[in-house]
Amino acid sequence: MKVSCALYLEVEAEEELLTLDWDSLPQPVMVLGGGSNLLFTKDFPGTVLHVGIGGITRHADDRVTCGAGVVFDDFCAWAAKEGLWGPENLSLIPGECGASAVQNIGAYGVEVKDILADIRAYDRKEGRFVHIDPATCGYGYRTSRFKTEWKGRYIITAVTYRLSREPRPVLDYGGIRKALLEKTLTPLVIRDTIIGIRREKLPDPAVTGSAGSFFCNPVVPEDVFKKIEGNPPHYEVEGGIKIPAAWLIEQCGFKGARNGGAQVYPKQPLVIVNATGEASPQEIIGLEKQVIDAVQAKFGITLHPEVEHV
Ligand SMILES: Cc1cc2nc3c(=O)[nH]c(=O)nc-3n(C[C@H](O)[C@H](O)[C@H](O)COP(=O)(O)OP(=O)(O)OC[C@H]3O[C@@H](n4cnc5c(N)ncnc54)[C@H](O)[C@@H]3O)c2cc1C
Repeated sequence: MKVSCALYLEVEAEEELLTLDWDSLPQPVMVLGGGSNLLFTKDFPGTVLHVGIGGITRHADDRVTCGAGVVFDDFCAWAAKEGLWGPENLSLIPGECGASAVQNIGAYGVEVKDILADIRAYDRKEGRFVHIDPATCGYGYRTSRFKTEWKGRYIITAVTYRLSREPRPVLDYGGIRKALLEKTLTPLVIRDTIIGIRREKLPDPAVTGSAGSFFCNPVVPEDVFKKIEGNPPHYEVEGGIKIPAAWLIEQCGFKGARNGGAQVYPKQPLVIVNATGEASPQEIIGLEKQVIDAVQAKFGITLHPEVEHV
């Protein structure tokens, strides 16, 4: 289903943000990246603004600055080709560099916060450009202050990542080490391996619509964890024990379950896909609710969506 907005604005240079008459724009104003973590549930009454600023610049100390509109995987491919370490485990994550710093994207044991050096943004509150130190961004699992108390305040125009010529492979997650046995480790080899693993498990956004992981993996206290039957996979994190939401959803019998055109992806139940290409937002939200209710009833655990509903 198609949705519309009152106004769509494409910004291609920072100066354009300084000359915008913000008060005259249809409200609210939201910033769109690649749209890969958003579920538009209805028409949007305000302005959708996309920062299409491109460019990848390598600095002498191997920091690399990307315009917010650079496709994140293009940056990963560029870094791997240059032989620079840092983002290789994050290969093939959809979306743009601007959003990478909002979402704290992560995969295979690496989060983008591990390689962030600087964020440049337009501060709508102060009406000026600022540099934001990543240490102040409150990064956690798929979250940051950009998603909470800073929501709507900053429009990110560039992100600087700290890369390295020194090998620093992270191999202890998701079967990477096994897949790399007997291979000479380079950023490019790791990138290709990660891409292969991801293609096996996840729907290709060019073919099947999805927003990636629909739910966050829940972190529960030890007493709740101990009550769960079936020996769930888990690992200890700050604040409790993290359990894969995919396992909980599968235990509730939802692998492959459908609601109209919406489907729990059979190969990875954490993902809800638009299986027919015709699924309505209501069908997706309906399936989301069924999954949340089933996991709550069986395990007493509340799943929260990772996907932002607009
Ligand atoms: C098939 C698939 C697989 C995925 N796998 C992963 C994965 O492994 N790991 C992972 O972490 N995520 C994953 N995702 C989720 C998604 O790729 C990330 O959340 C990504 O960062 C979204 O980028 P985007 O540019 O599409 O942002 P959008 O979805 O457009 O926006 C996300 C948020 O960022 C804000 N935003 C975007 N750009 C800016 C800007 N310039 N300034 C200020 N705010 C901005 C938006 O307002 C919104 O709140 C996956 C998604 C899909 C579809």
